[in-house]
Amino acid sequence: MAASLVFRLQDRGPELLREVLLERGWEEYDEEEREEEDWNLYWRSTAFRSSEYHNLLPWQRLNHHPKTVGITRKDCLARNLRRMRATVGSSLYDFSPTTFILPNDYTRFLAEYNKLRLTRGPSIYWICKPLDLSRGRGIFIFEDIKHFVYDCSVIVQRYVSNPLLISGYKFDLRIYVCVKSFHPLTVYIHQEGLVRFATEKYNLSSLNNLYSHLTNTSINKFGPFYKTEKEQVGPGCKWTMSKFRHFLNSQDVNQLLLWQRISNIVTLTLLTIAPSVPSCPNCVELFGFDILIDVKFKPWLLEVNYSPALTLDCPADITVKKGLISDLIDLMNYTFIDSLRQRAYQGQGYKQPCFNVNQHVLPKVKETKFQKRRNRNQSSQTQTLPLLKTLCKPEINQSQHAFVSNYNRHLPPVDLNKIYAARGRIINTTATKIQTDKTLNLILVGDFIRTFPFNTATLRASQSHKLDVKIVIQQLQRLTGQLATSDMEVKENKDRMK
Ligand code: ADP
Repeated sequence: MAASLVFRLQDRGPELLREVLLERGWEEYDEEEREEEDWNLYWRSTAFRSSEYHNLLPWQRLNHHPKTVGITRKDCLARNLRRMRATVGSSLYDFSPTTFILPNDYTRFLAEYNKLRLTRGPSIYWICKPLDLSRGRGIFIFEDIKHFVYDCSVIVQRYVSNPLLISGYKFDLRIYVCVKSFHPLTVYIHQEGLVRFATEKYNLSSLNNLYSHLTNTSINKFGPFYKTEKEQVGPGCKWTMSKFRHFLNSQDVNQLLLWQRISNIVTLTLLTIAPSVPSCPNCVELFGFDILIDVKFKPWLLEVNYSPALTLDCPADITVKKGLISDLIDLMNYTFIDSLRQRAYQGQGYKQPCFNVNQHVLPKVKETKFQKRRNRNQSSQTQTLPLLKTLCKPEINQSQHAFVSNYNRHLPPVDLNKIYAARGRIINTTATKIQTDKTLNLILVGDFIRTFPFNTATLRASQSHKLDVKIVIQQLQRLTGQLATSDMEVKENKDRMK
């Protein structure tokens, strides 16, 4: 079955994904050779159109859920976190530095700036980031407002000025998060990830030195000390997460509590958009969460990256990203349903689906406006394809079931209920019991660990008709509370032993 799977890439990238999929025996989509719908995975670094979500066939997957911009754009993230702070309390949502979206929030920023200046004096720092840029471009840090000039929409954020340093170098963590589904919310965090270093020692007296304050590889690889063997950090600007774990071990840090806090940040951030993301069982998404740790080992969320970079700049990238992509494909759990694509197109050459719908009496399926327009534009050969969308309908009647099961009598019957269950849809037919593909809910897939749901209560909360955010939050608080208490007990015991 693996040999028959087809991937489609936007602008022929990312190269790493192509490499991994070809190694696994997948074939690359070629629009000259194949029907428009003849693929299993469509990977784009930019967003899909909403029509692309509406017209998915059962074997097709997309690498973005709809409407995740609510966490991946700096201003939307700030707004969503602010809203959650107002509704569920700021103590839980205290993991993001205070942020203002300018020009709209200029007066509020000024009030906060003046308040802090009066109560805390100088030595409060701010970081300004343009909304339309990424990879560290256009970012600057300032202490005094007289050095703050901006000419486009930006966010201004409290600068975390006491970062944890390794031999004097600042770093942040790139955590890879896969949201397998928003309904029910199902989240995996990859255990490998990247630690990204600044390439000059941290120094608050030189705020203009970006090689000292920013940890973006895109900036630091052009720094004068990029290739230099730096104390403890080594050459380059990246470590694997495994190497960082060894470092933490040597520092006598309660890693469990730190990772639980990071996992909480991921869950709480996703909760801000989960109820409003439309359900799309055929989608999966990889996010890059950037986390900064301060000297007190408190993790801070800096941003969530849409389509995190999959380029290979150094040995750490190769180790981490190759495994990541491979595990992601495993997590997608390609099953029997995915091989249906091949059946629909095999036999008489790729341009012709293998069955002729005119031989069957088909149930009428209501066409959407888009489908109508598309059907009108399609050639007679491809007009069969929209009818296959009967497969996508969760509520199926007996005649539809019979049609799909027998559309090719030479092949084993297709159990639609299994298909929908495998895609995470709830099927409510009296004839069949709901079956959930157990492999979907695995706790470990390669180096991916399922971090949500994490117990029976959160499983139930995520599977109810509407995600029960209140219950999820209670459970997160309880879990972190338990870990923090045991951490305190361990510390007290250690102090007593001294
Ligand atoms: P970009 O999308 O341009 O990469 P980020 O928000 O990730 O923007 O910021 C780039 C870098 O700036 C981060 O990797 C981090 O090193 C530093 N940085 C960003 N925000 C803060 C902050 N609030 N406090 C300290 N450092 C920050």
